[in-house]
Amino acid sequence: MTGARRVTLAVPNKGRLVGPTLDLLHDAGLVFEERDRSLVAHVENVPIDILFVRTGDVVEFVRDHVADVGVTGADLLVEAGVSLPVVRRLGYGRCRLTAAVPKDSALTCLGDLGGLRVATAHPNSVRAWSASSGIRVEVVPLSGAVEVAPRFGLADAIVDLVSSGETLAANGLREVGDLLASEAVLVRSPGVTDAPGDAIDALSTMLGAVLEGRRRKYLMMNARADRLADLEALLPGLSGPSVIPLAHAGMIAIHAVVGADDVWGLLPRLKAAGASGILVVPIEKLIA
Ligand code: AMP
Repeated sequence: MTGARRVTLAVPNKGRLVGPTLDLLHDAGLVFEERDRSLVAHVENVPIDILFVRTGDVVEFVRDHVADVGVTGADLLVEAGVSLPVVRRLGYGRCRLTAAVPKDSALTCLGDLGGLRVATAHPNSVRAWSASSGIRVEVVPLSGAVEVAPRFGLADAIVDLVSSGETLAANGLREVGDLLASEAVLVRSPGVTDAPGDAIDALSTMLGAVLEGRRRKYLMMNARADRLADLEALLPGLSGPSVIPLAHAGMIAIHAVVGADDVWGLLPRLKAAGASGILVVPIEKLIA
């Protein structure tokens, strides 16, 4: 590892993307100390330095080649008006940029917003949407308390980032449509030509392996050999289950990888089909 330039990875230092990002990096096997997230963490086992910056600044750090790669929200790329190569979508930080109106408003869809005032903390994203959809709106930029703008006559509608939409409903607002969907993404700097591509590829592969592993479980069970066909029908696995003869004649062990969301429905059916000693084991990493 000596001699190779170290990769600089920019990640958010505050806010809702921090926890899942640090969990993902640790789960991928990067060994580093956070030390109250002071600026830089040196990864001990891989040639990567982690740069902790404000969520909103990650895009600029990567665009300006201060960092080779970065973790940010896809929505923040749009808001910054910066297009960077997305190395991998990370599946967390999912949210929608959605338009909402007061519950008693007559407006029902995005098209109804034409010509109206829209309050938002994401003015560039709304302008970009307006330009691409052809629905002209008057953007009222606000930095906070966007939900109350219609109540105070500042705007006819709002556009905000939501995940469940509960906050909007709690503020007497009704959704009329989404402008974009977002999740956390790993982006890379287009201008860095001396970055060790192998290290970036390895980082992306390992993050993907963790995300894939989290979506699956490893099932192990014992059964009588004559129940194999019934059990196999329930267990597609990655390339079919592994079947291992046990010391007791006529008994087998079956191992299979299944979707984490399927486990709840599968276990009672496996038991009914003759499986016993069923173990559900987490998968640390999976490369299919
Ligand atoms: P922060 O303001 O640092 O907590 O991070 C905001 C980022 O988190 C946004 O730009 C999105 O990428 C992401 N995010 C995920 N869910 C939500 C949500 N419900 N509201 C706002 N941001 C969200």
